[in-house]
Amino acid sequence: MKNSPQIEKKQLSTRLNHSDYQAPAGFAAYPTAVHHASTVLFENVAAMRSRNWLDKQSYTYGLHGTPTSFTLERRLAEIEDAQHCILAPSGLAAISLIDLALLKSGDHVLIPDNAYSPNKELAHWLQSQFDIAVSVYPPMCGAGIENYIRPETRLIWVEAPGSVSMEIPDLPVIAEVAHRHQIVVALDNTWSAGIVYPGFEHGADIIMQALTKFQSGGSDVLMGAVLVNDAELYKRLQLTHMRLGLGVGMDDVYLVLRGLPTLALRFAEHDCSAREIAAWLKEQPEIQTVLHPALPECPGHPIWQRDFTGAAGLFSVIFKEEYSEQQIDRFVDALALFGIGFSWGGSHSLCVPYRMQGMRDSWTEKGQLVRFYIGLENTKDLKADIRQALQQL
Ligand SMILES: *Cc1c(COP(=O)(O)O)cnc(C)c1O
Repeated sequence: MKNSPQIEKKQLSTRLNHSDYQAPAGFAAYPTAVHHASTVLFENVAAMRSRNWLDKQSYTYGLHGTPTSFTLERRLAEIEDAQHCILAPSGLAAISLIDLALLKSGDHVLIPDNAYSPNKELAHWLQSQFDIAVSVYPPMCGAGIENYIRPETRLIWVEAPGSVSMEIPDLPVIAEVAHRHQIVVALDNTWSAGIVYPGFEHGADIIMQALTKFQSGGSDVLMGAVLVNDAELYKRLQLTHMRLGLGVGMDDVYLVLRGLPTLALRFAEHDCSAREIAAWLKEQPEIQTVLHPALPECPGHPIWQRDFTGAAGLFSVIFKEEYSEQQIDRFVDALALFGIGFSWGGSHSLCVPYRMQGMRDSWTEKGQLVRFYIGLENTKDLKADIRQALQQL
């Protein structure tokens, strides 16, 4: 910042905008300072002219980050063992950043049938508007992914486990096939919060996470992250991020930073409670199947055992066929401790019934599917609540 020359006493409106005060250096505390900025000041014109926003050793403009967002990016990169991290204003913005950085017209992208629905919706929109072809593949195809690959395939999405239906795909096998064809593999690693599934070790080239979920943990912020090791991929992502102007608000960044120290503790508690409730639901006569990766009847359970070191508080159940959609809606409405709403990762339990036929290319289950998110409430109370709601059936 420039030093103002000491002339005579300045007028009020100038004094309101320029002050000579500088807080003493040497302040130390654990929380990261929240640096807000659109304009970032340069020392002099030479510094302004030689700026390089791609280099995160210096600051150029609020859109490209302040010490607050740089800190969150580094900390997330440390957690996932990645070289680079880029923040985006939501998990979905992180997904679209990856698609737009990697795909151009004439290219082909593969998306698993169990992907987060807006990810599929985006791909179909790219197909209709920008001539980027999309194919939906069965998530459990493993090495069979090869059958879906075309000469123009550039990107394969993987989600572990799949949104709502919870299948655990064989990422190492898919990545091995993809890499033989020089195809980039992007993993949606939101469910594991980046702490119980080392996606890069299992072959992902790019990892995205919705920080909206466990990292923030407060149901009060939307943010996404893209993590990558390859320098060339990182540059493509940075350029696309700049062109699209995907800035994040520093107060939101602060909220995510605030959640990180307790992330593992909260995750473990959600995991423990969800496993207890999932196992208990398995015993209930109204339930056909419990789709929790830690239970043997979940598709891909052995892969979960092999590749994961924990499970999130999110799982689904399929009710017995005899229960109609109306009855299941009544069950969900009758729950007192489970809120009805999208997103998850906060401290409160949630429950959502899904119409799977409309969401999936192929879905053969006849019973109604309900997704549970187990919060930090006591499991005895949560079970009692579910039991009284089941009685409404
Ligand atoms: C929530 C979620 C997203 C999107 O995150 P938003 O911040 O809500 O846009 C993406 N993928 C998965 C698996 C999610 O659960």
